[in-house]
Amino acid sequence: MKKITKEANMARDVLLLKGLENPILKEYNDIKEKERELLIAKHLYKIMSLLNLDLKNESLKDTPIRISKMYINELFSGLDYTNFPKIMLMDNKIKFNEMIIVRDILLISTCEHHFITINGQATIAYIPENKIIGLSKINRIAQFYAKRPQIQERLTKQILLVLQVLLQTKNVAIVIHMDHFCVKARGVRDNKSSTVTSCLEGLFKSDKSIREEFFKK
Ligand SMILES: [Zn+2]
Repeated sequence: MKKITKEANMARDVLLLKGLENPILKEYNDIKEKERELLIAKHLYKIMSLLNLDLKNESLKDTPIRISKMYINELFSGLDYTNFPKIMLMDNKIKFNEMIIVRDILLISTCEHHFITINGQATIAYIPENKIIGLSKINRIAQFYAKRPQIQERLTKQILLVLQVLLQTKNVAIVIHMDHFCVKARGVRDNKSSTVTSCLEGLFKSDKSIREEFFKK
């Protein structure tokens, strides 16, 4: 049985408290993973049949179960807090109080309005007070929240807030550039535009030179 860690609970609680959690129902949590996998595949089979595809075809026959597994284990694995990354937080014994910045974190997410890929990059920084965190964990937290049906604005705020709570500091900044394939492939069919969201708090908000350093580096 997979367990929800203390850090995962802290993350979820703060998002619920601030009204920033994804709209997730509780009742499906009890269905066993294998059972859920098959139920989703069954519905995908139906959708594909309604699109007039011949599901007896060699190439198509396993697509429903393949998509189902991909949803549960990969694209939407961030809906399940038992998949929250294992976090190691350390006391800031060396009193490091400079900006720590992680650039170009690859994010692949899914637009919740169209169920189509949004992908891009995030740059995340913090200035520690009492806690420091392993750098790869920042990437993993960002990627956990990306692995959900999302809107970019909510994703940006979720990552910021969760890092603030885990690191016990307001001093967190994030900027995300993303390409929305629902904009590229349909609707306005704009191939070039990308969307930028940012959120800066604590010293990143109040101190102009720190803000400039964040955007410049
Ligand atoms: Zn969309």
